[in-house]
Amino acid sequence: PARPAPPSASSPLEALTAVWGYDSFRGEQAEIIDTVVAGGDALVLMPTGGGKSLCYQIPALVREGTGVVISPLIALMHDQVDALEQVGVRAAFLNSTQSAAERRDTEDRLLAGELDLLYLAPERLSAAAGLLDRAHVALFAIDEAHCVAQWGHDFRPDYLALSMLHERWPDVPRIALTATATEATRAEIVANLDLGEARVFVSSFDRPNIAYRITPKAQARPQLLRLIEEYPAEAGIVYCLSRASVERTAEWLVGQGHTALPYHAGLPAPQRAANQSRFLREEGVIMVATIAFGMGIDKPDVRFVAHLDLPKSVEGYYQETGRAGRDGLPSTAWLAYGLQDVVQQRRMIADGEGDAQRKRAQSLHLDAMLALCETVQCRRQQLLAYFGEAGEACGNCDTCLSPPKSFDGTVPAQKVMSTILRLQRERGQQFGAGHVVDILLGRETERMVKFRHTDLSTFGIGTELGDTEWRGVVRQLLAQGLLQVQGEYGVLALTDAAADVLGGRREVMLRIEPERTRAPRSARSA
Ligand code: ADP
Ligand code: ZN
Repeated sequence: PARPAPPSASSPLEALTAVWGYDSFRGEQAEIIDTVVAGGDALVLMPTGGGKSLCYQIPALVREGTGVVISPLIALMHDQVDALEQVGVRAAFLNSTQSAAERRDTEDRLLAGELDLLYLAPERLSAAAGLLDRAHVALFAIDEAHCVAQWGHDFRPDYLALSMLHERWPDVPRIALTATATEATRAEIVANLDLGEARVFVSSFDRPNIAYRITPKAQARPQLLRLIEEYPAEAGIVYCLSRASVERTAEWLVGQGHTALPYHAGLPAPQRAANQSRFLREEGVIMVATIAFGMGIDKPDVRFVAHLDLPKSVEGYYQETGRAGRDGLPSTAWLAYGLQDVVQQRRMIADGEGDAQRKRAQSLHLDAMLALCETVQCRRQQLLAYFGEAGEACGNCDTCLSPPKSFDGTVPAQKVMSTILRLQRERGQQFGAGHVVDILLGRETERMVKFRHTDLSTFGIGTELGDTEWRGVVRQLLAQGLLQVQGEYGVLALTDAAADVLGGRREVMLRIEPERTRAPRSARSA
């Protein structure tokens, strides 16, 4: 078949206008592109939707030869190549989903100089090295470069092999791109990809049109429904932690009259592809998904991203919520989380794979996420501060719109702690949050009687707060590192820091839950 003629582009601006039909570069695109066109290396940290793709696509057109894009997003390569071919760019991909004949065809086109862009799965790189030696490579683009970071999320062992690019093809410029920009991740990218000489471009991570809302989980489904009803017949994404809850939630939303589709790695590939394509093409589809969904999805009019479970890190939260409002119109990032989330995530870290260092890193990620949940400051400000950006309070997030009050929670904290201490010291027992709260509330449950906990001196000393409020106290104590969760049943234990609170040497400030209309009695009498 006749191949399309190559798009002629003598300058980056000409490529932008003639091929993509845009008038001007955005943010630092022009400078990034100039750097790579001139043969220099670049590290690009730009939020999702910022326009990273053009930063390597345009240099690939302007420079002689083929731009080779290393991307872990195998499922999207087909769409990416289609989109490029539609604007006349000669693009192809090599990955493990292809037949030998398809691969051969792409290799032939590469060697004949008929490709502007070649997308390559990282695991194919070593097999393709000999091929690339014989081709004319214009540049290497390393997409989703945070995959090289050992302690970040999405770590891919394949990515460590990418340090070979520089050794084997020292004259080919490299551009690494990611939407994850903490100092630690950045340092790992530079070290592992040998990018010490690269120019670093950091774009603002601010997404002013996204309203961040984080709310304690009471009844997750009605809470979610209220959010969805704020955006009738609009597209949104609902993230759940497990595949089972993805399916249950999607089914339930359908029962409520919404167009909701499930997406997780356990579904057959054709169903995943079909659901993804309906989400992209139809209006008003709600995608209920695990975090397997979303990387590289370019849908501008996603009006809300909801998290029914706590994300594992602020990086993950930022990346997932960043899929809302890419068109710049008002959108909402909504998260409901509760005590159970904290317990579950701590336990997943404890029981998970990896050595002590890895678990420590995961705990730090979780702590940062919890700090964002429990903050009494502007959410957006705190989020940006996490990525090293200073900013003003946004006036648009839940804490800006209805500033949460904090109260001196030292006495409630001591009540929880001394209950845990007594169980352990006097009885040699450990229990989970539910039972500890039952003790404080003086509930004569079957378990209470069986274990004779009605005799504990803290039995019934916490009637000034309700069940939800006590669970909020425990959750916040966990978030503040004053309590910890241990063992496979998730029992509560004190941390070393708890001693100062019990000894009256340290105050504990707690956030008053928004749905609570009054301060707890202990705070008012203080
Ligand atoms: P990222 O990879 O950073 O998430 P993309 O490269 O997918 O972002 O770009 C996001 C959207 O912005 C795309 O629809 C893209 O076509 C558009 N875009 C990128 N650069 C420009 C520009 N200079 N002018 C107008 N639109 C642009
Ligand atoms: Zn704010």
